[in-house]
Amino acid sequence: MQKIPSENLEIDRKARVYMPYEDPALRPPTERVCDFGDVVVPLDSNRAMLEASRCIHCPDPAPCMLACPTHNDIPSAMWLIEQGRYIESALLYRQTSSLPEICSRVCPHEQLCQGSCVLNKTHEPVLCGPLETFVTCYERKTQGVSIPVGSPTGKKVAMVGAGPASLGCADYLLKQGHQVTIFDSKPAPGGLLVYGIPNFKLAKEVVFCRWEDYEQAGAQFVGNTYIGRDKAIDDLFHKDGFDAVFVGVGTGIDAKMEIPGEDLPGVYEGTDFLMRANTEIDLLPEDKRERPQIGKRVAVIGGGDTASDCLRTALRMGADQVTCIYRRTEKEMPGGAKDRKMAKEEGAQYHFLTQPVKFIAGDDGRLAAIECIEMQLGEPDAKGRRKPVPVEGSNFSVAVDTAIKALGYWPDPIIGKSTPGLETHDWGLISVVDRETGATTREGVFAGGDDVTGPDLVVTAMVAGHKAALAIDEYLKKSN
Ligand SMILES: Cc1cc2nc3c(=O)[nH]c(=O)nc-3n(C[C@H](O)[C@H](O)[C@H](O)COP(=O)(O)OP(=O)(O)OC[C@H]3O[C@@H](n4cnc5c(N)ncnc54)[C@H](O)[C@@H]3O)c2cc1C
Repeated sequence: MQKIPSENLEIDRKARVYMPYEDPALRPPTERVCDFGDVVVPLDSNRAMLEASRCIHCPDPAPCMLACPTHNDIPSAMWLIEQGRYIESALLYRQTSSLPEICSRVCPHEQLCQGSCVLNKTHEPVLCGPLETFVTCYERKTQGVSIPVGSPTGKKVAMVGAGPASLGCADYLLKQGHQVTIFDSKPAPGGLLVYGIPNFKLAKEVVFCRWEDYEQAGAQFVGNTYIGRDKAIDDLFHKDGFDAVFVGVGTGIDAKMEIPGEDLPGVYEGTDFLMRANTEIDLLPEDKRERPQIGKRVAVIGGGDTASDCLRTALRMGADQVTCIYRRTEKEMPGGAKDRKMAKEEGAQYHFLTQPVKFIAGDDGRLAAIECIEMQLGEPDAKGRRKPVPVEGSNFSVAVDTAIKALGYWPDPIIGKSTPGLETHDWGLISVVDRETGATTREGVFAGGDDVTGPDLVVTAMVAGHKAALAIDEYLKKSN
């Protein structure tokens, strides 16, 4: 698919700016909070064509393309959609993205493509995300999806971790004709797409349908294998005969609060809670096959997107009173405003300028209350964010049955510790000698995604996988 040059299009740009706009349709909060189904109502064909024709086709390079970490050719895709050429549009997305059906649903579009749309100056941006979902759904339903596989090279690449970084890397390596095997400590592939992001944002079915394309293309998945404990990276080279290894293990260790009572029954870690609440039982690791036991009063501690996901999950599990506890004000919250708005619509409440200092047990030994202290904002820190400072003597307690800590993540140091010559920093993030190639300090080992950058996005992890795949291909050609 060739780029469609904007200067050749005979369109009335001014008229397009004033075309009618409709917000994406969402299921009503009272309805959607009763199940884990998709919140967004998909576009239909008429609406898709109309919405795509609001694109004014900025001169190259279009801001939306620049803002997209994988540089999807959004203007050309919009042009194809407005003419009903949905399959061509989907194929265009697939030229630059390994996971368009997923990124279209979970990317923070308001910070990326939609956020940079020039229509924002006076109007609403073009809904790039829902349009990408529409065409990729249409493509899968009408003609199916496949990954084109290159002529076999006889080279074998192992991926450690089956999240978006490895999926991005595997897609490109399969296209080059290399054999790909993905190892993961979890029973199923997908990483946080399956074991983190809740179903109401991304249905597991979408991820598994995409994984089937990988299997059809010859990718193999080896689950329940914790590299560094069950098998070392050296074993992958010397015992299993892999020619290169890509490490995309993410940052799977939840941050601790280091306050009394953190281990009480009823206190959950965010990722553990989300995984056990949102994933089908038979897809869960054997020691996690139990739903979280939540009571009627749930507190979620933290201000990021994981906190919004936990609040909304707890509401769907039937909690009556679901409250977010955050130590700064709403203005400083790192999580996206869109998710927070939906959480509020669904019934979540917020306690700002509040910091838990102790989890308190009831007579039954389970969590019964959280002791908190009020905070005020002090001087800005090195990053310019005002530091929360405790207000002395302002302690109070909140009665709760369940607390969920959604505080951030750290890398798991095991890969660094078990791989001689592989340098790490900051408690286990993998050091790469070049971000453009993902090459590490260990020959033949490449890395990308959250385990290199720290927690980020699906799309950035996928792009890191793409870059590493190109470098791995070069490395394999040289090592002939
Ligand atoms: C709750 C939550 C919600 C999020 N929501 C969004 C969102 O809406 N949009 C967005 O863009 N991003 C979101 N993110 C961030 C996004 O999911 C991550 O940035 C992305 O998944 C990182 O991809 P990755 O491949 O680097 O790692 P991961 O997706 O974390 O995958 C790593 C995989 O490696 C496996 N693994 C770890 N250690 C080992 C080992 N030693 N041996 C074998 N396997 C191992 C893990 O089991 C995991 O499956 C969210 C994150 C969380 C936690």
